[in-house]
Order: sequence, then structure tokens, then C-alpha cells
Amino acid sequence: MSQSKLREQISALGASMYARGLTHGSTGNISVRLEDGSYLMTPTGSNLGALDPARLSHLDAQGMPISGDKPTKESFLHIAMYEERPRCHAVVHLHSSSSTAVSVLQDVDPDNVLPPLTAYYVMRIGSLPLVPYYAPGDLSLADAVRRYAGRHHALLLANHGPVVGGSSLSAAADAVEELEATAKLHLTLHGRACRCLSDEQVAQLREKFPVDC
Ligand code: ZN
Repeated sequence: MSQSKLREQISALGASMYARGLTHGSTGNISVRLEDGSYLMTPTGSNLGALDPARLSHLDAQGMPISGDKPTKESFLHIAMYEERPRCHAVVHLHSSSSTAVSVLQDVDPDNVLPPLTAYYVMRIGSLPLVPYYAPGDLSLADAVRRYAGRHHALLLANHGPVVGGSSLSAAADAVEELEATAKLHLTLHGRACRCLSDEQVAQLREKFPVDC
């Protein structure tokens, strides 16, 4: 796909997510890795609802600026995911309400935060580790993300929000939206006795629908 088409797709996805309340203010960021290994990334301080395709940050394979506005301050989250997952070609990071609410709960399994409530959650996310909290700008967060990203395309940053990679922009968007919808279900069901999918049902789904990046 051409770079100009990808620029339009990033901007359209940002507008769609903003319109549906998946991002607010200047939170959240989107990136893609191009065929030549360089990256397109949403700029720092940008509102995802009003992105200008021509002003997206273009970074080289080492993450150094080539053109466009200055990249998001969270670009290191994206680069860590790409460097650990060679088949990953898009990353979406959100501060979306339900996922972030789950990232604050005390009674979760940090190795796999959400239970297997639905087949689509298992197919698109599978398992979701909780990455320990670090303050904004603390580069220890990059090291922590790197430690988990080799084994997981979807991570939940404690008291912060999700980071999800995909083989394409639409795959990453579908996955992070599935995660947000499942987090909302989890909160809705809080305190109720639930029939989650069994270990065997989860294993069958994960074998039939392996993670795409
Ligand atoms: Zn963030």
C-alpha cells in the first residue's frame, strides 16, 4: 500500500476512534511500519480526531525524524513493539476508559488480566499481561514493554492503557477495539458469577486462529 494511502488510513482511523470516544483530548497514538522499515506516527500533542495526513511524523528505521511534525512522546512504546515483533506492521496505543479502568483494578492476574469471556477476545487478543506502572517519560517503561512484547502483541500498561500490535492497521485497530469492548464487559459483569470459556475451548481457538503478528 502506498505511503499516501496509509497516511489517509491513519487519519481516518484516528477520527473514527475519536468520534466513538475511544480517545479523548490529545491522548492515544497510532503508527505503521512501512515496507522500507521506516515509520509513520501520529505527532506529539495531536488530537486523533483532527489529524492532517501530510503532517504525520515520518521516522527512519532507528526512530530518527525524517519529516513531518515531532512524533508522539510515546513513540518508544511503538518502536519497542516493532523491534520485538518483526511481523507487526501497525501499533495502536489508547487511554480508553474501560481498558484503563481494568488496568487499575487490584484483583487481576498480572500475567493475564482479562478472563476469556468471548471467542473473539481469545482470537484477537488471546492473553494480556499487565506491564508495571512507570511515570510518563520514564524510559524504564520502554524496557518493560520490550520484555513483554516478544511474547505478546497486546499489553496493558498499569494505570495507563493498552498497546496493541497487528499485521496491518485494520488488524491492530480490530484487536484494540475488541480489548476495549471486553474490558467493558468485564466491568459490567463485576461481582457476578460467570461462565468463561474453558481452557480446552481457549486452546482450540488459539490453535485455529493464531495471533497474526
Ligand atoms: Zn499513553
